[in-house]
Amino acid sequence: MTTDDDSALPARQKRTERTCAGCGKHAEADELVRVVLDPSSGELAVDLASSAFGRGAHVHGAQSCLAKALKSGFARVFKCEVKGDANAISAAIVDAADRRIEGLLSGAKRGGQLAIGADAVKEAKEPALLVVARDAAAAAKLSIVERAVAEGKAIAFADKIRLGALVGGRDGNREVAVIAILHRGVATAIAQTYGLSASLRRNEEVWSSSEVR
Ligand SMILES: [Zn+2]
Repeated sequence: MTTDDDSALPARQKRTERTCAGCGKHAEADELVRVVLDPSSGELAVDLASSAFGRGAHVHGAQSCLAKALKSGFARVFKCEVKGDANAISAAIVDAADRRIEGLLSGAKRGGQLAIGADAVKEAKEPALLVVARDAAAAAKLSIVERAVAEGKAIAFADKIRLGALVGGRDGNREVAVIAILHRGVATAIAQTYGLSASLRRNEEVWSSSEVR
């Protein structure tokens, strides 16, 4: 049964196992998507940062697990009827992941933890993770990007204009094709968040494993 009573703890302290409300398999909490129930509406909300208070259920970010959980798993965990459909929750998970990754990128920009643009990325020493705009065909062919993709240290995310708006292009350039994350903790958080939503990203090219080593 998937319940958690330690939701007040910071996410970092949680290296505990949880049970997927869909397939019933155990996994590390950070490999599962946490959802919480709004008791007034009976609707589910996605809580990727594991920061929302209240009872939560956990589920793999996979269509099959979401469908099974909606049939019976969530109702068992929350001990009441749970509304929702797999497509809507799946879209909400991708949305929540995008927002969280954008927040992490903005924070990393403020903290000076990014190398922004192809030239800066080429000079970055052992970047922990590359974020490549999905429409950045030229950047995708750079050897540093190809190597990072092969090593599972790159994700395809957003587009050049969106990345430009998030982290600011240099020299008035409003488009950003590639970003290197220089901070390991931030890179891990981004890769993990992306990994939770990766199999739900239809029509998107998905490169990365969720691991940053
Ligand atoms: Zn599952």
